[in-house]
Amino acid sequence: MNSAGPTAYGSPCRVCGFDWTRSPRELIDEMNLLPATLDDLLEGASGSERRPDLEWSIAEYLCHVADNLRIWAERLVGARLGPTNLIGSYDQDELARARNYSTIPLAAALWNLRLGEAVWASEVNQALIDSSTLAHPEVGTLDASDVVAMTAHDSLHHLEDIRTILAHPRS
Ligand SMILES: [Zn+2]
Repeated sequence: MNSAGPTAYGSPCRVCGFDWTRSPRELIDEMNLLPATLDDLLEGASGSERRPDLEWSIAEYLCHVADNLRIWAERLVGARLGPTNLIGSYDQDELARARNYSTIPLAAALWNLRLGEAVWASEVNQALIDSSTLAHPEVGTLDASDVVAMTAHDSLHHLEDIRTILAHPRS
């Protein structure tokens, strides 16, 4: 297993408690519940709720998670279809600025997340079957289970951020 995630966040993650040793299948099952979990959690929310100690509002976190899932799915498609499994890095803050996350309504962000999770689940399943690997310029070789763990962690970590904001909203 690639150690980038546990090294950066702790094992388990110091913030969200994510267990890096969970199986890819278990993580995909949990991720498949994420859109419905968020729909329920955010009933009555505006999406603009935020806390001063967290970078983004709820809707902005959703935009980031959705984009991240689609980007990783796209990377896996690239590796599958070739000619190379070498991926480029992207700057999540620059993407947030370019897409102007703060103007995207909550309902649209939830729609995007549902689509992102679906393509992510489809592509990580295929990558596990194919034993695909990605060559990441900063963290090195990632096998399919590393990709599942890194992307599931990003999503579930921000789900915790959203729960924290909802528990103590301050705008
Ligand atoms: Zn975490």
